Amino acid sequence: MPFAALFGCADSRLSAEIIFDVGLGDLFVVRNAGQVIAETILGSLEYAVEVLKVPLILVLGHDQCGAVRAAIDATEGKLGAKGQFIQHIVAAIQPTVTHANSIGRGDIDSVTELHIQDTLEDIQSRSKVIADAIDEGRLAIVGANYELSGGEVHPIKVVGTV
Ligand SMILES: [Zn+2]
Repeated sequence: MPFAALFGCADSRLSAEIIFDVGLGDLFVVRNAGQVIAETILGSLEYAVEVLKVPLILVLGHDQCGAVRAAIDATEGKLGAKGQFIQHIVAAIQPTVTHANSIGRGDIDSVTELHIQDTLEDIQSRSKVIADAIDEGRLAIVGANYELSGGEVHPIKVVGTV
C-alpha cells in the first residue's frame, strides 16, 4: 500500500519516484498541469485517504511552472495558448495571481508559493473526508515547492500531524 499521496504538476521534470527515491507501490500519484484542484482530483485524493488510508498528502509545485506563468500572462491579457480547456487550468490559478498582485507579490515564485497554500486550503474546505481525517489526526497535508535547478524540495506549509 502507498504511504503517501502526491498531487503535483505534470511538468516532465518532476518525477515523484525519482525525487523521493521510492519505488513502485509507494506513492499514489495524481498530477495535472499546475496542480489545480478539480472534482476528479479531489475524488482521487479522497480515494487515497478513505480507501488506501494514506496518512500523508503532499502537494508539490515547482519553480518556473508553465501553468503559473500562463495564469500570470492571462491576467495581463497576454496568454498565447488558445485551447478551450487550457482556460480551466488558467482560471483555477488566476484568483491567486490577482491576490498576489494586490499584496505586491506578483512574481512567479511568490504566485507559485501562494498557489500551493491556496490549494491546501481548497482541499480541506471542499473535501469533508479529508478535513475529517485531518481533524481526527489520521492525515497531514504538506505543501512544498520543488526547485528544478537544485533538485531540492522546500516545504511551504504543513496542516495536521504526521
Ligand atoms: Zn508546472
